[in-house]
Amino acid sequence: MPTLSNPSEIAREALRQLAARRMPPSPDNYRALYHEIAGTVDRSGDAASEREFRALLAALPREEPLQQRLVRELEQTLRNNDAAGFRKILAEFVRTHSADDQLGWSELIADLLRQWEAKQSGLTPGRKREALEHVLGGAASNNELLFGRLQNLVRSWSQNPAAPETPLVDEDSGTSPGTSGSPESVAAAGAPPGRTGAQLTELRELFAFTLEAAVAAQLAEEPELAADARHLAAAVRSAGTPKAMETLLGNIKRFAFRLELLAEDRNELRTGLLQLLQLLIENVGELVIDDRWLQGQIAIVRDIVAQPLNLRAIDDAERRIREVIYKQSQLKQSLNDAREALKNMLAGFVDQLAEFADSTSDYHDKIEVCAEKISKAENITQLEDVLAEVMRETRVVQLNAQRSRDELHAARLRVQETERRIGELQAELDKASLLVRHDQLTGALNRRGLEEAFAKETARAGRRRSPLCVALLDIDNFKKLNDTLGHDAGDAALVHLCTVIREALRPQDTVARLGGEEFIILLPDTPLADAGRALVRLQRELTRRFFLHNNEKLLITFSAGVTELRTDDDQASITKRADEAMYQAKQTGKNRVVSV
Ligand code: GH3
Ligand code: MG
Ligand code: MG
Repeated sequence: MPTLSNPSEIAREALRQLAARRMPPSPDNYRALYHEIAGTVDRSGDAASEREFRALLAALPREEPLQQRLVRELEQTLRNNDAAGFRKILAEFVRTHSADDQLGWSELIADLLRQWEAKQSGLTPGRKREALEHVLGGAASNNELLFGRLQNLVRSWSQNPAAPETPLVDEDSGTSPGTSGSPESVAAAGAPPGRTGAQLTELRELFAFTLEAAVAAQLAEEPELAADARHLAAAVRSAGTPKAMETLLGNIKRFAFRLELLAEDRNELRTGLLQLLQLLIENVGELVIDDRWLQGQIAIVRDIVAQPLNLRAIDDAERRIREVIYKQSQLKQSLNDAREALKNMLAGFVDQLAEFADSTSDYHDKIEVCAEKISKAENITQLEDVLAEVMRETRVVQLNAQRSRDELHAARLRVQETERRIGELQAELDKASLLVRHDQLTGALNRRGLEEAFAKETARAGRRRSPLCVALLDIDNFKKLNDTLGHDAGDAALVHLCTVIREALRPQDTVARLGGEEFIILLPDTPLADAGRALVRLQRELTRRFFLHNNEKLLITFSAGVTELRTDDDQASITKRADEAMYQAKQTGKNRVVSV
């Protein structure tokens, strides 16, 4: 504080300090301040005090009638030696004097507005609003405090360096900041500072990337439109002035409109193709009415086409049809082998018959010759020779007949056996052709189906960067259930479990039977915590839906291990981890779900 020498200046300053320091405006305080400012010693009580008071009164401002009246009243109290009256009126004077501060308020508000509208580096309107709300909320009940804090706030804003022009936000600035050079410089200059600015820059980049990577890639069959998408992406990155933005917005609108038209065309095309496929299927169904081998496959495709297209359903159908085709190809091979064998056997049979017929006609010829020799025999010796020949020929024929009979009998048995086998294979083939599930008992996928499903789901999870969980379930005390109720009851329990799994989980979750009473569930798009909860939900569902055996309600429980796919996982490693977690669930009391 500069040292003042003029008493009226000192008095005025003392009065100001009285108000500024919010000291009670008593003569003592005034005096103390006066001396502090003047750098003099307080000698209160002496005659100098009155002079000083008078000097004070002389120094008081009198611009306004109120001030003039108060000064007059102060002079009066001084004359009357009325200390209490002096204090009271002086206090009133200080109040009117400090009313000058309202000028401060209006200045402060004007400053606040100026700084509010000004653009400072690192300060967004959002941040300013936050800070202002904070100050208002914290000091609302105390005018002085509020004033001080607001002053500090406005000062801190004003001390931030000014931000460069922001054409994207400040539409009114009209002029370009002249940064239409490299995309980097535009990205930095083309967005306001702070969080919103960073978000806008990110949004721009993301939009450009979407246009380039996603939209253009989808337009492989429309090279012109794809090129437009890439040009737009470049424009999105580089538009740095309001004018460029305006042109860009117009271009984007036109582009979106053309995309919309294309989407409509494609939809129509897809509907047309689907109808064509449907027609084809109906026709094939009619044509192959007697070919049971194809019926199952056609039924699957018909189901798919009848519903709105769904990628998972198509995948599933493909898997099922592949399985059927694989089984059919195996069975067809066996069936062909069996038919070939039957044909060979029948050919052999015919050969045998012909051979036998040959040998018997040969015998007849020989017997005829013998008969002639007998009729012409002249003595007993000649007759004996002929008889011996007849005996020999007859024995050969007899042996031949015996052998042929045995061979024919064996051949007949073989034919019967082959016929039976062919019948079996045929039945199996029919069943395989109609098979839509992989595991015969439960309808869940078998190991091979699981392999395919796992490969598909991991690829999809990788593509979408979405989590995939694998759960391994093992029924608790299943051996006991089998031992006490029988194997068929055990089988029915397995079927029951699979039904509940399918109904309790989402359609996109895949159930596979790993073997015995162990199952794997694949849970796509599911983080570990959610997968754990899904398994617990399944446990609860099993307690609600008892397994009924001979009208007796039985509770089936399972222990499960759940784990999430990691980058370096393959089917073996993730299954092993799930299995270890399941083992942990068994070890810690069964009927539990352990997530790792
Ligand atoms: P834990 O709670 O420790 O899993 O005991 P558990 O009895 O369930 O397990 P364990 O491995 O000792 O027994 C499994 C039994 O499951 C053995 C077998 O008899 C039975 N099992 C396996 N496959 C089938 C099947 O297809 N049908 C039937 N009914 N039983 C099966
Ligand atoms: Mg087991
Ligand atoms: Mg078990």
